Amino acid sequence: MIARTHVRCPGCSKVIALRLSIGGPDTQPFYYVCVACGVATRGAIDASAPPKVALNLEDGEQLYLDKEPPGTQVVTVDSSIPLLGSAKEMWDVGGSPFIYLHMILGNRLDLYVKGSGKFRGLIEADGKRIDRLITYYLDRNWSAFDAAVPEVWPDQNLPTLVWHRHDTMHRLLDLLTAPVWTADIYPRMKEAWNKVQNPACAHSAALLVATRTAVATSELIDLQNELFDCFRLWIRSHDAWMPGFTMNLMPEPRAQYGDLRVYRDDFPALRDLYIRVFEACHSALPFLMGRLNVSTRGSVDAFVHPPELSAKRQPKTVAAFHKLTSWERALYLRGLPVWETAWTETLDRGLRNKIGHAKVRHHLQSGELRVQGEDSVPYSAFLAKTHLLIIPLLAVMNAVKLTLIHGAMLDDQDAARNKQL
Ligand SMILES: [Zn+2]
Repeated sequence: MIARTHVRCPGCSKVIALRLSIGGPDTQPFYYVCVACGVATRGAIDASAPPKVALNLEDGEQLYLDKEPPGTQVVTVDSSIPLLGSAKEMWDVGGSPFIYLHMILGNRLDLYVKGSGKFRGLIEADGKRIDRLITYYLDRNWSAFDAAVPEVWPDQNLPTLVWHRHDTMHRLLDLLTAPVWTADIYPRMKEAWNKVQNPACAHSAALLVATRTAVATSELIDLQNELFDCFRLWIRSHDAWMPGFTMNLMPEPRAQYGDLRVYRDDFPALRDLYIRVFEACHSALPFLMGRLNVSTRGSVDAFVHPPELSAKRQPKTVAAFHKLTSWERALYLRGLPVWETAWTETLDRGLRNKIGHAKVRHHLQSGELRVQGEDSVPYSAFLAKTHLLIIPLLAVMNAVKLTLIHGAMLDDQDAARNKQL
């Protein structure tokens, strides 16, 4: 639904008619740009008391006019889906953000409506419970964890062994996020990793020893904690990146749809999220490549070096691998082609470096992320990349989980053997 209200521009004092898309959460942050003077004003729609649309504006004021003065400039704003920046009235191309989205997505609109609706519904209904479950899981507080599982997942068989708990936790994360997956990259990554973490592989004895070593160190647990923190941040930021989900449903090339704008600004929080997930995934590479080495060549230190690295930079051990830069680490994914492709598609190094720049800013007038002297990035494209972060994050979390499951099964076997003795 589109609501029309009026504001006075804090810059030039002109009256502006705001056409606001209403829907979704009660409080919707947005900004608008005055065409006359170029000033951008942030605010939030308070949609909790319809039919009146109340605005909390950082500057300027909301006006309650009986009649709109002729020639009033009209600005269309939607904070939840990308819209055509040039659109003004309903009869313009893109004047209805939802109709325009339908035109772009065609029958994939259904994926957006159902996916975003189901995802938001799950978070609203179970988000806090799942968050508590994560706390119990990371604390390995199994009595609290077992008691809390039926609250979120009544049909699930109750876990009785440690490996069931690892499995239950991660299946819940998959179920929670599946409504907003847009491609099959994640299951392909999982399938590829199952071949690495294969207890019946040619080097099964070495893999078993490496598993025991890995689960006995605090390093793996620290890594898991960091990955879960990233996961929680991504979930918490979902209103901010959700327009990126619609971007990722659009058929390529996206440039054909014109200047797609998202009139909200969560850049500082999402920049931190992007950099943190990017770094967390790369910090997992010493562990991941060690597993790949032992599974395919019988030793965690048996690296196959990429030709880009000089002999001096080539690590002889996993410990030395830690000293590589994230770019150098990622080169080693060549030994796992599905992951290498997915890594490039979902973790954008150029973007990470650009937004890590101290002088990067979200230029609200153009809707672009700008760094002096470099190509700018549309904010809508940045949101699409932020949405995709869940793919490598879940894949890495899943790889950690499989090692923990393997370790827990070995513990169970040891306990059974000790009982027999
Ligand atoms: Zn103005």
